[in-house]
Amino acid sequence: MPVRLSVPRESASGERRVALDPSTVSRFSQMGVSVQVEKSAGDAARFPDGAYGDAQLLDTAELYRQTDIMVRVAPPTVEEIGSLPEGATLVGFFHAHRTPEVVAALKERRILSFAMELIPRISRAQSMDALSSQAAVAGYKAALMGADLSCRFFPMLTTAAGTIRPSKVIVIGAGVAGLQAIATARRLGAMVEAYDVRSATKEQVESLGAKFLDLGVKAEGEGGYARELTEDEKRRQQEALAGFIAKADVLITTAAIPGRPAPQLVPAAMVEGMKAGAVIVDLAAEGGGNCELTRPGETVEHGSVIVHGPLNIPSQVALHASEMYAKNLLNFLTPTLKDGEFAPDWDDEVIAKSCLTRDGGIVHGPTREAIEGDAS
Ligand code: NAD
Repeated sequence: MPVRLSVPRESASGERRVALDPSTVSRFSQMGVSVQVEKSAGDAARFPDGAYGDAQLLDTAELYRQTDIMVRVAPPTVEEIGSLPEGATLVGFFHAHRTPEVVAALKERRILSFAMELIPRISRAQSMDALSSQAAVAGYKAALMGADLSCRFFPMLTTAAGTIRPSKVIVIGAGVAGLQAIATARRLGAMVEAYDVRSATKEQVESLGAKFLDLGVKAEGEGGYARELTEDEKRRQQEALAGFIAKADVLITTAAIPGRPAPQLVPAAMVEGMKAGAVIVDLAAEGGGNCELTRPGETVEHGSVIVHGPLNIPSQVALHASEMYAKNLLNFLTPTLKDGEFAPDWDDEVIAKSCLTRDGGIVHGPTREAIEGDAS
């Protein structure tokens, strides 16, 4: 019997994305996989049931009961895991250290789980990298949010009523999201400056037509990521940053350090030094925020500065974010599906490193250490 691949309706609050769009379902069907989609699973992402012509449409209970592999966006609830057959496979985002009860349920049901956020960021796996695809969506949208909340135009405008100077947008953190925010703000005509502690980003920032701010603080860590700054480096960074931020119309912050809370780069005093009507869009809100005044999920005004802390931004661009995520899943699962059978190659580091739970145990060392205190 061909493997049964299930696409549920996402249950997490506010989640509009769906794991597979109709065109990706067709690709799986062509591989001999039997795809089944929960009724109205794609509604919020604007993929109506009728568009999933290559899939079987099922009610919730039936879909869970008949699953061999389930692909999803947000982590499942404990109850949803309990509805899956024992030993089924789950693929999606888990953020396991935040949800130990979900991991306990995965162990108990002996679910084979793969976490999209654990896929190693090697060249070969770029097409499976959902952290990158979704960060690109968030960066694009962050620039639009900044433009929308601002009381100023982004582009220079020459009109009969006078010439308006372009806005100055500063982007802190030039990773995947930051670079997309820079590109979008540039397309809207803003003058853009950017800063990152990784010196490799200078060239990338400049190639997008933005100016790189050299604050004299560099902090390259392992695997091409940033490391946490020392107290002295933080102080020097903030002193140098304050002067630039005081001139910004919109500040977009995206700084993150893997496995750590978001670094706090913009204290309240720095916000108080900003221009009247300036806007901060804090993309790091999910991890606590880069700005001291950020309240995750809220928009607050401090004096006349707007501090916006959006959560789950990719969900706001649900159709394209879902299409990109679906391609990541397709590229991850294709090598594991042979003649309609699921046969992951455990010697493949992409499979081995992205595995979260298997045979009733936590396979991923750091998660095991965080939850069970055992890294061995
Ligand atoms: P991220 O979301 O972890 O962090 C965002 C950015 O914040 C990073 O550029 C980081 O350097 C920066 N940052 C951290 N602390 C900072 C501070 N105190 N001040 C200023 N900036 C700070 O990063 P990301 O976007 O996921 O990507 C990080 C790295 O991974 C990049 O080198 C990227 O090129 C690489 N990457 C590789 C692949 C691949 O090869 N498959 C795919 C995606 C990303």
